[in-house]
This record gives sequence, C-alpha cells and structure tokens, in this order.
Amino acid sequence: MPDPTTHGGHRGDRITRIELGLHDVPLAFPVSDAKVLTGRQKPMAEVSVLTCHVETADGLTGLGFSYTTRAGCRAQFAHASEVAGVALGQDPSDIAKVYDSLLWAGASVGRSGVATQAISTIDTALWDVKARRAGLSLAKLLGSHRDSVRTYNTSGGFLQAPVEEVCDKASASLAAGIGGIKMKVGQPDLREDLRRVAAVREHLGPDVPLMVDANQQWDRATALRAGRALAEHDLMWIEEPLDAYDAQGHAALSRALDTPIATGEMLTSVGELVRLVDLRAATFLQPDVPRVGGVTPYLRVATLADHAGLQVAPHFVMEIHVHLAAAYPRESWVEHIEWLSPLFDERLTITDGRMQVPTAPGLGLTLSDQAAGLRRDHVELRAD
Ligand SMILES: [Mg+2]
Repeated sequence: MPDPTTHGGHRGDRITRIELGLHDVPLAFPVSDAKVLTGRQKPMAEVSVLTCHVETADGLTGLGFSYTTRAGCRAQFAHASEVAGVALGQDPSDIAKVYDSLLWAGASVGRSGVATQAISTIDTALWDVKARRAGLSLAKLLGSHRDSVRTYNTSGGFLQAPVEEVCDKASASLAAGIGGIKMKVGQPDLREDLRRVAAVREHLGPDVPLMVDANQQWDRATALRAGRALAEHDLMWIEEPLDAYDAQGHAALSRALDTPIATGEMLTSVGELVRLVDLRAATFLQPDVPRVGGVTPYLRVATLADHAGLQVAPHFVMEIHVHLAAAYPRESWVEHIEWLSPLFDERLTITDGRMQVPTAPGLGLTLSDQAAGLRRDHVELRAD
C-alpha cells in the first residue's frame, strides 16, 4: 500500500522549485503585417519567450512558456518573478487552485493583460507536470478527439514579401505537407490587397484552403467592402478585420458576410473572449494560451465556444496548441509558424495537411542547447 500522505496519495505532491527564463528568439528576417504598413508598429525581428521550469517533491518536472512581440517581455518577466513564489509548496496537481493564487497575488495590476500573460507560463508548466505524471500527452490527458490536426502556414505570407515570394513559400509549405495557407492583408490601399490575394488564389488553385489576416487594420466600412470584394476567392476565413476589442463590429460583419470571420488572438482574459462568444462575433475563435493566461483559462473559453457552436483555431505557439486543438470537439486548424523551433529539441511531424499530436508525455518539449544561448535573464525560486 502506498503511503497516502506522500507520492500519489491524497496529500499529493509539492512544488519545490520554479525557474523563469527570458529568451530572445531572432527571426530569420523581419516581418511586417498591416500594423507596420499603417505606421502603428515596427517590423518584427524577434520573439521574446518567458519559459518556466517547475520541479516537484516527487521529482517531476514541467516546462511552460509565454511570449511577447515587440515590447512587454521585461514586464512579463518581472510580474511572473514577483508572484511565482505563491505557487511554491502547493500541490502541482491542484492547478485551478494554484492558478487562482497566482492571479490574485498580482490582481492589483489587473486580471488580464501582462498579468495573465506572465502567469500563463507557470500554468502551462503545471499542465505539463500533470500530463507527465500520468504518462500521457497533454492532449490525451485532456481527452483527445483526434491524433492529428489540420494545419496551415502563416509565416510565408507577410506583407514585406513580394507576392511572388508569398506564392513560392506557399508552394514550399504545401510540399512540406501543410494543408492551408494564410496571407496578410490590411494595407492602406485595399486594391493592393485584392491584387495580392487574387494572385495567390490563382497560384494555389481552387482547392487549397486560403485565409487572410488584416491584423485589426480596417474600419467597419472598409472591412465590409473588403469582405465583399474578397468573396470570390472562397476564403476559409477573414481574420481580425477590425480592432480586436470591437466585438460588436465583428458580430455585424459575421452577419453581413458569407466568408467566416476569425478573431480573438489579442484578448487576454476569459471575460474578453466570452464577449465574442456571446455576440457570436466570429465563426472561428482564436484564443492563444500564453495571451489568455494559460491552459486553465483557455479550457474555460473552449468549453463556452463549443457550447455556442463555434470553431476554435488557436493563435501561434503550435507547440502548445496542437494538444488543445486535438482536445476540442470540433476539428479546426492549428497555425504553423516555426519561429520558436530554435528553443526546442523536438520538431512537430506534418503529413497530408495535418500536424501529428506528439505522443511523449506532457507537451513533449525539451529546451534545446541553443535556448541557453538565447537566454538573457532568469530567476530561480525555491520552497523553504
Ligand atoms: Mg492573426
């Protein structure tokens, strides 16, 4: 009989060590979306990643990560460093309880935004611990519907690339087994967007799923006009046509257009995403584990989205989202962006348009040797 006060028993395990690491992952070349062409942001040259290693008294470990682009990584690192101590000594299996304590420890600066993004890395590491303890992939731990998910490529379709380059990269993605292609739109001149989309659709032919992403840069009138003009290209969806917080505008657009609307990647709390669900503002909801605050709040959003009959196509971080997309009842899409690959030893397998769910326990990720070289700061917290 195992001692119920220790390993595997009612008292459970204890979190004994948390290490947070701040990494800068450079991109192969800077990329521009519509926010750059409308003058709001500079091209993106790197992604900053906040990793979290958790260790437990039972000798288990877990790895989580969050990220920022352009700005905010220092704030995220500082906030996580400040609140992570409340998790020490708690049972890593009591994720909802640990999550609440992390959230409330930092609630003075809000329960959304940087605060939730900072603690998402810890929450994700705890889910990794739990799945590793069970000897299951995270998808299997959650209850999986499928062993692979449809995947589309985004990284080849940015706006700094001439349309010939977008077409070449789309062909390379399809040759590598990826099943769909997304390209950026939302330029100051709508006619240029329409020319590029027409060229890519012609290059791909009618059968390849094609999405466009305006990165919030249209106003309502332009989005409606663009949506109608794009209808002939049989798009899988139009992503972020409007400001991320214009839930009513997205809902009106969803009603007005036949092409499905996708949005949600910028939102940083369950409450913000619930508004999109309640208003049926999108056909494809796009929550993002690191941005919404971790796997725990993501699952709450997913439950509500399923209840409302929505599809869920999570944003970025395919390394985490492949598991969550596999565990969502309705089959959707996972976004293929390879930018974070230098951090990890593993590579996701993609065949016949689908990304295979890793079978290793947890997320199935280990930090690479290269990750150590990309680390620019870290902090370690230990239980007494
Ligand atoms: Mg997007």
